[in-house]
Amino acid sequence: MKATEPTRIAIVGVGKIARDQHMPSIEHNPNFTLCAAVSRHARVDGVEHYNALDAMLLKRPDITALALCTPPAVRFDMAMAALRAGRHVLLEKPPGATLTEVETLVGEARERGLTLYATWHSRHALGVEPARDWLAPRRIRSVRIVWKEDVRRWHPGQAWIWNAGNVGVFDPGINALSILTRIMPHPVHVASADLDFPSNCQTPIAARLEFADPFGATVTAEFDWRHEGHQTWDIAVETDAGSLLLSEGGSRLTIDGEPAVSGPDREYPAIYEHFAELLAAGRIDVDVSPLRHVADAFLVGRRHEVDAFHE
Ligand code: NAP
Repeated sequence: MKATEPTRIAIVGVGKIARDQHMPSIEHNPNFTLCAAVSRHARVDGVEHYNALDAMLLKRPDITALALCTPPAVRFDMAMAALRAGRHVLLEKPPGATLTEVETLVGEARERGLTLYATWHSRHALGVEPARDWLAPRRIRSVRIVWKEDVRRWHPGQAWIWNAGNVGVFDPGINALSILTRIMPHPVHVASADLDFPSNCQTPIAARLEFADPFGATVTAEFDWRHEGHQTWDIAVETDAGSLLLSEGGSRLTIDGEPAVSGPDREYPAIYEHFAELLAAGRIDVDVSPLRHVADAFLVGRRHEVDAFHE
């Protein structure tokens, strides 16, 4: 949907995801114009720069929307400041450090009639909606999530991922949980978890989850950041009428061993298309269910100390 006037937007937290995905997606979406970047260290060529959010909010009342691309542990204060200044807010995933702070943001946005959008980029992967449709009439026997990647390759120099308030291996793992909560025809909940914490870190480097399913299916998830071989982001589902494999983070769908869906990545362009729709409709879109599974895993999880992590 194209708005009459492009929304003036600022990016907050110019790091990997802001540069790789948000900036190009904004550039190619006629509904938005990137007008400022707020970052303590980084600069974006040709874009007005602010070191601190408050200064930007004060000086640029015409910038009506913000994309918060900072780590989750520091996002709440920024989101609250933006909402209180009357701005619409897009949150990177995970939407916050706790469930309650996200609910507080929803309340603030609702009271002020502002759009708040908690993004889950993996839900826009090409195979996800067709997988949801295919599963809807079937009885699920098992779901097996295997999300194994090399943290040194994907998060070089990101010390924040190991600090409390961030989620360690659930940072990628929550992408799988955002798909799970989208494709399952009924809710499941975390029944048990084993969490491996490096002896020098506050967040886990690996996690194994078992879910309870009201209809008796076996649902498991295995997340591991120590994986140096083939990077694996798979969800395999067995049903009473065939099997499904979502691989490559949801971008490739195989049904009964036959390729069904694959194609170029459009996750972040789809996020900004949806943000424009939410702005036009004056709506809020916040689903905390993936974050709830992570919170529950921390609540019931058995803690295991493993080797210290050094980059
Ligand atoms: P990043 O490269 O570390 O960038 C985050 C930026 O936020 C930093 O460069 C930093 O810029 C700013 N920042 C503000 N306060 C900070 C603080 N207290 N600690 C650290 N940085 C702070 O991280 P990222 O990979 O872009 O991830 C950011 C968010 O996007 C995370 O929630 C992540 O889950 C999500 N995400 C990442 C990816 C990915 O592939 N990397 C994919 C999808 C989603 P200044 O120092 O200039 O302020």
